[in-house]
Amino acid sequence: MPTSWSDSMEKAPANGGIAPTSRASRTTYVPPHLRNRPSSAETSGAPVPHAGPALGNDTQGHVGPAVGGSHSVGHRRDRSGGGGGRGGGGGGGWNNRNGGWDRGREREANPFQDDVDTEPEFGVQENTGINFDAYEDIPVETSGKNVPPPVNTFAEIDLGEALNLNIRRCKYVKPTPVQRHAIPISLSGRDLMACAQTGSGKTAAFCFPIISGIMTNSQSGPRPPRMPRMAFPIALILSPTRELSIQIHEEARKFAYQTGVRVVVAYGGAPINLQLRELERGVDILVATPGRLVDLLERARVSLQMIKYLALDEADRMLDMGFEPQIRRIVQQMDMPPPGERQTLLFSATFPKEIQRLAADFLSNYVFLAVGRVGSSTDLIVQRVEYVLETDKRSHLMDLLHAQRANGVQAKQALTLVFVETKKGADSLENWLCINGFPATSIHGDRTQQEREYALRSFKSGKTPILVATDVAARGLDIPHVAHVVNFDLPNDIDDYVHRIGRTGRAGKSGLATAFFNENNSSLARPLADLMQEANQEVPAWLSRFAARSSYGRNRRGGGSGGRFGGRDFRRDSNRGGGMDYYGGGGNANNGYGASGGYGGGYGPTVTSAWD
Ligand code: ADP
Ligand code: MG
Repeated sequence: MPTSWSDSMEKAPANGGIAPTSRASRTTYVPPHLRNRPSSAETSGAPVPHAGPALGNDTQGHVGPAVGGSHSVGHRRDRSGGGGGRGGGGGGGWNNRNGGWDRGREREANPFQDDVDTEPEFGVQENTGINFDAYEDIPVETSGKNVPPPVNTFAEIDLGEALNLNIRRCKYVKPTPVQRHAIPISLSGRDLMACAQTGSGKTAAFCFPIISGIMTNSQSGPRPPRMPRMAFPIALILSPTRELSIQIHEEARKFAYQTGVRVVVAYGGAPINLQLRELERGVDILVATPGRLVDLLERARVSLQMIKYLALDEADRMLDMGFEPQIRRIVQQMDMPPPGERQTLLFSATFPKEIQRLAADFLSNYVFLAVGRVGSSTDLIVQRVEYVLETDKRSHLMDLLHAQRANGVQAKQALTLVFVETKKGADSLENWLCINGFPATSIHGDRTQQEREYALRSFKSGKTPILVATDVAARGLDIPHVAHVVNFDLPNDIDDYVHRIGRTGRAGKSGLATAFFNENNSSLARPLADLMQEANQEVPAWLSRFAARSSYGRNRRGGGSGGRFGGRDFRRDSNRGGGMDYYGGGGNANNGYGASGGYGGGYGPTVTSAWD
């Protein structure tokens, strides 16, 4: 994975590792919709400072019939994909620039680990670990007007050859349930609020329609103003953590490989200059954390006026108390087109109703999609809760790890992610584990970004098969082989628990989650017992007793209407009794803690510094 700026970031993965251009020779980026237009400047030989109608000749000269060339055709069915285009500038539309550097022949860096020069044999190397049967019975609910119907296969969706080829390279055999529903809805141009369980393929669900839309509409639309050094992305994908933005960028680069759509990432803690350089080379899809994006906007290096697609991953987190002001600033107070003029896609596994209500400000005539029970954990995760006093937690963890070893579990195949409450606690537990012979590392907001990325890499590779983390690693991270998530310290909020344990049991695979519970976690007893019951897990009798006690106390969450964990479209609340109580929680005070108080609490000052 692209990791620290000191190594792979500097290699500028999106452009084949070419050294940065000097100011004089800076390349000029042309957004897809401007590519291949006839040029007066080109023919007159005048310098073209930025995207303009100058690149027609350039395109003809270098791009050929490959994907970049597809922009000159401008019709989805005519895209020829990357297969035939690698040699002739098939590396993508951003090859088509001028400004003194002919990049038409550059080879786009291969974001796949294997060699993808040849078309993969479909079916032979399919994603065999995926247990699709696990998804078959998943209940799905959509609401909104005229919801486009779902599809059963990728072939049914007209995503274009280049994107289809990448789907095969990713070894995705068929769409997951959220993809089956969300992709047609998004392709139809509708705004979407989508809830689907952790590990169920939401990233592709929002990336595919965006990439496809940019390719399809590359010829239409207004032109950006001529502003040298200002980037005009067409799509913006925001996520709450740096590591998640890095991951989305990697995924999106795979999906966009040889489509001509260029993806750039910007996040805090890394040198801004390298990111600026990448932006200057051109950007169609900008993946960013809010803090760094605001910085770029303030420096007038990015303009949002060309935005056609806005996607918020972990959307409920992006709109909770910690982030909402920044998101409003970015979305409502800069130059981004308003709802209706852009398409807005919100995705998460949890969606408290208050956040849904707030999110409505950013949406226009949207479809609400719930795949599975919103806010629920996936049944693929075996959940265990053990009563452990604070003072016994370390030795208990040690017992678990010893047992894992004794079972002969190969460390590389069985990574263990241990969540703790504080940054200090993370450091100290990491140290203690290492002293006791368990190779561990840690990730939290007090570590430098370089250290954070190094720790994640070391964990992923199995070099340090134990990662101690704060909530900075709770959301979104897709790390293969995480077999066990330990909630050494439970969070205050059940949604945080859902996200944390969701680091295992992904993409149809099974996983184990163990939580250490004691009196300090009483407030979580009830939601935890309910969540486990919902997921057909064994609830210990002592936990049920804690839950019964707390349900009469101050910790009982309000709401009383709507589904569990904010489990359905809040717009339906006015329709109660009309057969809409799909999640079975309507009107049941015992289940009605989803709507309020459920967010924000889990992200104390210990981790806030990490969210930029
Ligand atoms: P989510 O955002 O819902 O938690 P991700 O988008 O991170 O889930 O996807 C989880 C894993 O599933 C990733 O490793 C991804 O590559 C894989 N995946 C996504 N879609 C498919 C598919 N259609 N077939 C097989 N694997 C998939
Ligand atoms: Mg995700």
